Amino acid sequence: MRAGPSQEDIRRHNLGALLRHVHLGGPISRAELTAKMGLNRSTIMALTSDLTAAGLVREELPRETGRAGRPSLVVRPESARVYVFAFDVGPDRLAVARVGLGGVILDRREAVRRRGPFALEELAGMLAGFARQMRRKTRDDTVCVGAAAAVSGGVRKGDGVIRFGPNLNADEVPFGEELGRRLGLGLPVSVGNDANLAALAEHSRGTAAAVRDLIYLHGDVGIGGGIIAGGHLVGGHDGYGGEVGHMVVNPGGRACGCGSHGCLEAEVGERAVLDAAGRVGGDQQGREAVRAVVDAADRGDIVAQKALKRVGDWLGLGVANLVNIFNPEMVIFGGTLRDIYLGSAAQVRTRLALHAMAPQRERLRLRTSSLADDATLVGAAELAFAHVLSDPLEVLARASG
Ligand SMILES: [Zn+2]
Repeated sequence: MRAGPSQEDIRRHNLGALLRHVHLGGPISRAELTAKMGLNRSTIMALTSDLTAAGLVREELPRETGRAGRPSLVVRPESARVYVFAFDVGPDRLAVARVGLGGVILDRREAVRRRGPFALEELAGMLAGFARQMRRKTRDDTVCVGAAAAVSGGVRKGDGVIRFGPNLNADEVPFGEELGRRLGLGLPVSVGNDANLAALAEHSRGTAAAVRDLIYLHGDVGIGGGIIAGGHLVGGHDGYGGEVGHMVVNPGGRACGCGSHGCLEAEVGERAVLDAAGRVGGDQQGREAVRAVVDAADRGDIVAQKALKRVGDWLGLGVANLVNIFNPEMVIFGGTLRDIYLGSAAQVRTRLALHAMAPQRERLRLRTSSLADDATLVGAAELAFAHVLSDPLEVLARASG
């Protein structure tokens, strides 16, 4: 017979759950925590005391209660003291942020990444250098409790190896290990697929905060996706699931970087947009080039309008397939797809009306990412906070020690 959870297991679970409320929801009174967590007042008091003593939260009198009687203390995250490093490695952009508990971006650096071979040592060295610059500016009592990176590619569970990243030119790259070594904080660096992490970010603190079934589509050079079903990310057996960019929408269509033809990415990605708009060549590439096509269409440029119409047709077809299979409550367009969707919403809706089944589409909401260009970075920060939210005191003791 297996023993049930010990008192210590229950306490650890409750500490994590309380910290998660404060981290995701912001300042909250003890009375509200009592109601939300279904625990009694003395248990909540004991848990907040432990987290306060560890320096993870602090308790304050509310500014104004407007009510008679003793006000309930408000529990706030120690955002300036407890932080993580979040990294974002995209085809054209590198970003590093120091993010405080509660999800506050305290400091950040960005750099342009030149497309070309994936230079592991140079790249990890640069990212770690940015983190060191930020760390030098922190107060002595601050503590880094985690680090994580979002990368445009498929990542092996457990060791942070980028298995495939055609748009980064990365193939079997031990990225997490190298970045961890360069950071020198004695912390492992978790690595995740950027679109998966952006989906989790929108789900935990973005436009889909109360939504349990959603699909996030991320446009960059390629198209990535994150599928959240019943509140959980669909990762598949090995964690490589959710590659909606390689769903075939046009057999015999444009060649794709994966070796197939007519994938959603091949018909809707950056290259397809620029080709259709007659803008390939020279130095026209990246998010700005895609946005320029959408802007031109807005101003009445016929060629740009036709390009968006074509791309919107394929995008709508892809979304219709996903909607039929997963019946999401919401589909969110992020990265360059944010602009492409805004420029081709009529096309997307027409395709949905033609190809998605009525019960699945009737209550569907189409939205653009509220975290915008920070969705992947915010997702990396949430991945970095995952350990401290599952075992707050243990992680903090290790980080401080
Ligand atoms: Zn493909």
